[in-house]
Amino acid sequence: MAVTETQLAELQARLKDFMAKHIYPNEQRYYTEGEKLGPWRVIPVVEELKKIAKAEGLWNLFLPDDPRGAGLNNQQYATLCEIMGRSVMAPEIFNCSAPDTGNMEVLVRYGTPEQQKRWLEPLLAGEIRSAFCMTEADVASSDATNVQLEIRRDGDEYVLNGRKWYTTGGTDPRCKIFIVMGRSNFEPGASAHSIQSQILVPKNTPGVKVIRPLPVFGFYGVPDRASEVWFDNVRVPVSNMLLGEGRGFEIAQGRLGPGRIHHCMRLIGMSERILERMCRRADARVAFGKPVSEQTVTLERIAEARIMIEQCRLLTMKAAYMMDTVGNKEAKQEIAMIKVAAPNMACKIVDWAIQVFGGGGTNNDHYLTVCYSLARALRLADGPDEVHRNQIARLELKRHRNTDPDVTGGRGLGFTRQEAQEFADAGLWPRPADWAE
Ligand SMILES: Cc1cc2nc3c(=O)[nH]c(=O)nc-3n(C[C@H](O)[C@H](O)[C@H](O)COP(=O)(O)OP(=O)(O)OC[C@H]3O[C@@H](n4cnc5c(N)ncnc54)[C@H](O)[C@@H]3O)c2cc1C
Repeated sequence: MAVTETQLAELQARLKDFMAKHIYPNEQRYYTEGEKLGPWRVIPVVEELKKIAKAEGLWNLFLPDDPRGAGLNNQQYATLCEIMGRSVMAPEIFNCSAPDTGNMEVLVRYGTPEQQKRWLEPLLAGEIRSAFCMTEADVASSDATNVQLEIRRDGDEYVLNGRKWYTTGGTDPRCKIFIVMGRSNFEPGASAHSIQSQILVPKNTPGVKVIRPLPVFGFYGVPDRASEVWFDNVRVPVSNMLLGEGRGFEIAQGRLGPGRIHHCMRLIGMSERILERMCRRADARVAFGKPVSEQTVTLERIAEARIMIEQCRLLTMKAAYMMDTVGNKEAKQEIAMIKVAAPNMACKIVDWAIQVFGGGGTNNDHYLTVCYSLARALRLADGPDEVHRNQIARLELKRHRNTDPDVTGGRGLGFTRQEAQEFADAGLWPRPADWAE
């Protein structure tokens, strides 16, 4: 059922209230616990706050148009993501964090009733967590056709062999299920988009080895719990296959639907908070006889930051609007654009903020280091900038191949010899007096 404007405003107010009461006051504890306990343990404050958020109904807000979620469309959810994005710890508290949201969406869309009962229900309840294993150390995984992990059928089972890395959440003891992408078709000449499958692998299956945590810019626990995972003769029943053998790309497309822009929505909120901190700090520090905020370079950066945030918010909302109205496929250029624009915008603003904070900007007191590492990682984690830019450019080229330049005024070719002669004859260009008539 659609959420009305009044209901949305009420949700926003409740979320802001929760952030003020429970999230901001507990952030220091979150980072301290995260750093002390490291990547293999649960951060206690997270579990404490999850209970409160769930009891208050601020839970699973991400599932659009689904009775199991809050029933918000993408535009509505974007406004809530912006609020949650102000804190790196917040999304998980509301059961709205990656990679669980993407995995839950996959299970909602493609899971069988049994798969949903076993894995989706506990994920929605926040009782377990999950991970998504696509990227491999040994091949360029921005091109998913390269993925090499083998999924071979043997009777009633599939046998998996391969090495994955950058598996977010793999070290978390609450993580119980992996969605693994691998190659299942080894026929020579098979179409590149039908060779991959996605399959459910319980983390406790013999042969699954979470080898090590991977630090992100030197941080182990926050903002990402990346890990390396090996699959050595891992056997799972054939009923664990998602959607069907060879349909891994189709699922990847579906997975990259709404979840694709959640990070962008949150980065807007993060950038707003960083800009606020930057302004306060610039006002409070005096150097060479005047506040840092009165140095023109600071004014210029603050102004640029405001412009960039507003631009990104509008592009995010446009992408969300198109996803809601014409669908994810039609919105793909907008989705790709915001996935480039938002992390780059956030990186730039955090970088300016670090400069305003001086040396202190590089330690963890001011929340800048974690934001920088998150924003920078997101220029890769949802696919590298370059890949999105290629897609944007190809769509742009295609668009113009289908229009008539005489109607749009967008001609790209030079004048023909005949046209040049006509314009010359008409006297449109200056020419020397002795030019032959
Ligand atoms: C913090 C973090 C969390 C992550 N979480 C997960 C996760 O949970 N699960 C998962 O499976 N993966 C995850 N990833 C991995 C991420 O999806 C990959 O790093 C990303 O897809 C790029 O793949 P790659 O690292 O193999 O880079 P490669 O494919 O080797 O690419 C390297 C570089 O080559 C260039 N390049 C590639 N293609 C093109 C092109 N077409 N045009 C121009 N240049 C190009 C780009 O500069 C790119 O950065 C995570 C990554 C990070 C940093």
